[in-house]
Amino acid sequence: MSGAVALPVFPDGPFEVYRIIEFEGPFRDPEHLIPSATPDAIKNTRTYNDARFFDQGDHKLIMAFHGIVVRTPTSVILIDACLGNDKHRPMVPEWHMRSGPFLNDLKGIGLSVDEITHVLCTHLHADHVGWNTRLLDGRWVPTFPNAKYLFGREEMAFWEQDADANHKSWQDSVQPVLDAGLAEIVDSHHEIEPGVSLLPAFGHSPGHVMVKLETTSQGKTRTAYVIGDVIHHPLQVEHPEWSSQFCWDAKMAGDMRTSILETVADSGHWLVPAHFPTPTAVRVESNQDGFWLED
Ligand SMILES: [Zn+2]
Repeated sequence: MSGAVALPVFPDGPFEVYRIIEFEGPFRDPEHLIPSATPDAIKNTRTYNDARFFDQGDHKLIMAFHGIVVRTPTSVILIDACLGNDKHRPMVPEWHMRSGPFLNDLKGIGLSVDEITHVLCTHLHADHVGWNTRLLDGRWVPTFPNAKYLFGREEMAFWEQDADANHKSWQDSVQPVLDAGLAEIVDSHHEIEPGVSLLPAFGHSPGHVMVKLETTSQGKTRTAYVIGDVIHHPLQVEHPEWSSQFCWDAKMAGDMRTSILETVADSGHWLVPAHFPTPTAVRVESNQDGFWLED
């Protein structure tokens, strides 16, 4: 499944939020992503019994890879550049040498590559930087020539020491942006414009950031957090202490999950994670058993 989908997070405007989907479907055994998610441990979870999030037949998590586009009155911001085309990722077949319709899907919501004003990677793992660049005449060039590419200072400082990590995605998806002079290194607290701010969300990676969107109209404030990989899968809404095997600091990542769940629970605030399948934008409620998603 691919395509562009509007998310219903700001029904009164002025922000429009879309997901541009590169992949959605069964993806990996739960223990592959989350070592604590053994068959015994998950069988009584709500996630396991929810066909939106778990494929019991194949015993696979249902996951998505998408970018989030936020149109404000003045900007068009791509949050997370997902997988990209033509990227050499032989260790992950679904990511390897793709030729997907991401840019056509952007056109479907009326956007050319020239109209993206900002690209923000919540972190620099390979599945969040892909569309930073595209292959043109055998060279990697920035896909969005008029955009400022915002990179978190701590995240950059960590991965520039290890440019062979993350399937070598630094080399094809970060370095060309630096070389083109389009990168802007920002603090983990950073306002892009009023109502659109980065916040630190360290743990999954050393300098992971998330984006808080907030607007008030007619006395009503609406808030959404675009959280990247702070939470990979609804299983971790039920079990925020379960980190993925790809988390840099499992304890810090778990604390961060609990913190954002406490922030949004029972508040009407939206969460928009980078890998939640449809409906992707969720609200959270809490009770004595912990957290789960509102209907
Ligand atoms: Zn990811």
